[in-house]
Amino acid sequence: MTGSFTRRDGVLYAEDVALPAIAEAAGTPVYVNSAGGMRRQARALLDAFAGHDVRICYAVKANHHLAVLRLFAGMGLGMDTVSGGEIARALKAGCPPERIVFAGVAKDTDEMRLGLAQGIFQFNVESIEELRRLGQVASAMGRRAPVALRVNPDVAAGGHDKISTGKKGDKFGVPIEDASAILAEAATMAGIEPVGLHCHIGSQITELAPFEAAYRRVLEAFTAIREGGVELTRVDFGGGFGVRYQEPPKFTIADYARMVLRLTSGLGASVVLEPGRFLVAEQAVLVARAIYLKETATHRFLVLDAGMNTLIRPAMYGAWHDILPVVAKDGPLVPTEVVGPICESSDFFARGRPLPRMMEGDLVAIMQAGAYGSVMASDYNSRPGPAEVMVDGERFTVITPRRAVERQYEDETVPPWLE
Ligand code: PLP
Repeated sequence: MTGSFTRRDGVLYAEDVALPAIAEAAGTPVYVNSAGGMRRQARALLDAFAGHDVRICYAVKANHHLAVLRLFAGMGLGMDTVSGGEIARALKAGCPPERIVFAGVAKDTDEMRLGLAQGIFQFNVESIEELRRLGQVASAMGRRAPVALRVNPDVAAGGHDKISTGKKGDKFGVPIEDASAILAEAATMAGIEPVGLHCHIGSQITELAPFEAAYRRVLEAFTAIREGGVELTRVDFGGGFGVRYQEPPKFTIADYARMVLRLTSGLGASVVLEPGRFLVAEQAVLVARAIYLKETATHRFLVLDAGMNTLIRPAMYGAWHDILPVVAKDGPLVPTEVVGPICESSDFFARGRPLPRMMEGDLVAIMQAGAYGSVMASDYNSRPGPAEVMVDGERFTVITPRRAVERQYEDETVPPWLE
């Protein structure tokens, strides 16, 4: 349990609000976000780099809710976006365009126009093809796009092969050895202002060594490119800092900051960071209600009203989340299959997890659900999407109501010839 979620008299609280009260008010399943916890994480990062030319851009993809974006924008963070939709959300939440980075492997022409018209801080470009397209679009608009080229430093990292992004053969970025030639071409384009290099080697990285290995390679290339005459001023190291799911990361954010500052001291360049998971993962829980306790000769299944459509991480990455009874229970711990109601056998949260005997109607909290949780929820099986709540001290607000079934099909049309 993090500082944001604690037990009082056997009942789990989000900050100063009891989770059963939230389940009552919002229904279940419900994601419960701790505003205080998110602020604490952001403050830790800002403090670790205080006094240095380091910009923290929250990776919107981790949780794109307007309330979350507003909270971070209000603390002075920038936003790392990967689509026109995320740029629109960041702007709507009050993030100034000059704090927005636009990354992502496939920006289309309309998205480029949006970023250029808004005058965003930086485009992280992932291929020569994208660079040329951006150059043409910017020239046609009479603009220059500030570009950091995403390089692939060929370093293995990340908590799972599906979230490792910096190896040769991954679709992201350009081979680091090609960066110099690409930026030399970029420098000749009227619509492009080459400003830096970018890398992001993966997510849920729990050791410092892969970061340092990748950053050293990026900085070597950075220096060589500068010596070749392209005036780069920024280095963007992406995100990827691991959080505690089952085991805590082997480094603290202060260790990470010291490493970054040591590598970049004297470089004369601004540093950009794009943390997502670190800021939000441990600051939300998913509260679900048990529909059935189904017992067979060999297994005990706890069937929840949340499923892989609510939180896909266990099904997609085999991810571990702590699972706790919201109201503490006595009795022996018995291996329990914690599953959802979706008609897929991959619809599970934990297998053989030691839990006390839960009953129909009991609430459980699936912990560390704040990153890549609610953003990936879907209406699969036409189950109403989860509600979302934000807690701040003693107050809370339902920031997304559960998506009623009628709203799920309100945009659908039956062709007149089927009527
Ligand atoms: N930056 C880029 C380019 C990414 O692709 C991602 C995640 O996929 C992030 C930042 C955020 O990563 P994390 O949430 O692990 O910090």
